[in-house]
Amino acid sequence: MDLKKIALNRLKDRGVSINDMAKIVYDIQKDFIDDIDIKKCEETILLILNKREVINAVLTGIAIDEGVEKGIFDEHIYKIIMEDQGLYGVDEILALSIVNIYGSIALTNFGYVDKCKPGIIGIIDKEGKESNKCHTFLDDIVGAIVAAAASRLAHHNEDK
Ligand code: MG
Repeated sequence: MDLKKIALNRLKDRGVSINDMAKIVYDIQKDFIDDIDIKKCEETILLILNKREVINAVLTGIAIDEGVEKGIFDEHIYKIIMEDQGLYGVDEILALSIVNIYGSIALTNFGYVDKCKPGIIGIIDKEGKESNKCHTFLDDIVGAIVAAAASRLAHHNEDK
């Protein structure tokens, strides 16, 4: 199986579908792009996931979250990541490897979804805080994919 399919399957295993992400992209861009629809947002998410840097960040972030759930790290880093401590920040930095590909609009969108936690991002954030699941990296990875897709749509709309 190719790595893009594996990354999409891993996201799905962790509770995030292409449609979940597309709905947030749609909400961010619907007032700015005339012919936008969910299908176009889903297609754009899939284009973002063609990039190797994106796939690498998805697989790495999910592997760390799952490693924490399985207790494979030492107690200090376990506690920091499991509790999603505010000053940790490595989760956001990993996600920036996705955001960086799509420039300053993507960075602004990433800041927005990180703060407002729309849709599936809020759901996984809550699940990570209230259960024994760890989504410390996943919420940022999903936020970054959404931000990148919204930015890509904005740039292509501008080109028209
Ligand atoms: Mg996080």
